Amino acid sequence: MPNVVMNHGAGGEMMQEFLNKHIVRHFPSMDAEVPLDSMDDSAVVDDIVFTIDGHTVNPLIFPGGDIGRLSVAGTVNDISVMGASPLGLACSVIMEEGLDISIVDTVMDSMGRTCRECGVPVVTGDTKVMESGALDKMVMTTSAIGRRSPLLDGNLRTAAEYRQVSNRWCTDDSIRPGDAIITSGYIGDHGVAILSFREGYGFESEIKSDVAPLNKMIAAGLNAGGIVAMKDPTRGGLANTLNEWVSKSGIGMEIDQESIPLRDGVVNACDLLGIDPLSIGNEGKAILACVPEMADQVVKALRSTPEGRHAAVIGYATEAPARVILRTEIGGRRILDAPSGDPVPRIC
Ligand code: MG
Repeated sequence: MPNVVMNHGAGGEMMQEFLNKHIVRHFPSMDAEVPLDSMDDSAVVDDIVFTIDGHTVNPLIFPGGDIGRLSVAGTVNDISVMGASPLGLACSVIMEEGLDISIVDTVMDSMGRTCRECGVPVVTGDTKVMESGALDKMVMTTSAIGRRSPLLDGNLRTAAEYRQVSNRWCTDDSIRPGDAIITSGYIGDHGVAILSFREGYGFESEIKSDVAPLNKMIAAGLNAGGIVAMKDPTRGGLANTLNEWVSKSGIGMEIDQESIPLRDGVVNACDLLGIDPLSIGNEGKAILACVPEMADQVVKALRSTPEGRHAAVIGYATEAPARVILRTEIGGRRILDAPSGDPVPRIC
């Protein structure tokens, strides 16, 4: 048997294959509205929305954030993109003996402030210490429960004014040909900020992580109405998110490359390092699909919030082929494949 490699946790096709072959098949199939094997952002069991995230980011404190803020934001966002309101978080911290306690204080202070920012408390937790050398300083696991957002039914009713809507949640399989695809803002900041800081490339003076809780921005979008699917483009980035949607919804997609918001610093760093900004992780962005008639209003609502200031329509779902097609600036078309894994390891 071969060994586990970094790409088995890197959010791309290799991880998907690994999960299918070695993890998910061992668990009994369950009678849940959104079960484990749908591999969506959260599960839905008896109308309770439930998710969990492990965090192994290196370094623990990085430009724009730290493992504490990342843990809260990542978990709150996974609940929110289902169309749910997060109620409370559980947090497990495992530390290595010898870790500077001032780092613990910094991370916990930041975590507490992020909880206040999004209005979601940590309600239960656990702390363990392992001997030196057993792990890399600190890992953190956060879980959350949420309930159906009071805005979700109205949002779906608006979508249903324009086309048939069969799903009760904003799941990955809910997109239909014609739906507009929206990003809530700039793509690639988190991965570039971490890679640059860690490797000493110097771009981090210009590019900070986008890590942020998005529950309030998403509530504004739901309030506008017409959203059918949402996802946070974390590991594997925008390319992975769009390809997951295409395969789970059984659609095609045409994305206009020029309309994807990318900072110059991200483009320059990615050019220099030979990586694709569309394949690296984001921690403060949502990708949304909505009925085309409501796209302008959803973008406007997102833009009215601090996290969604640069929201933009980037393309549309199509009938076929079942691929993501990127229309390039010079009028060309190329297939945007799912990455085999995020090119930047340990960003979350
Ligand atoms: Mg997610």
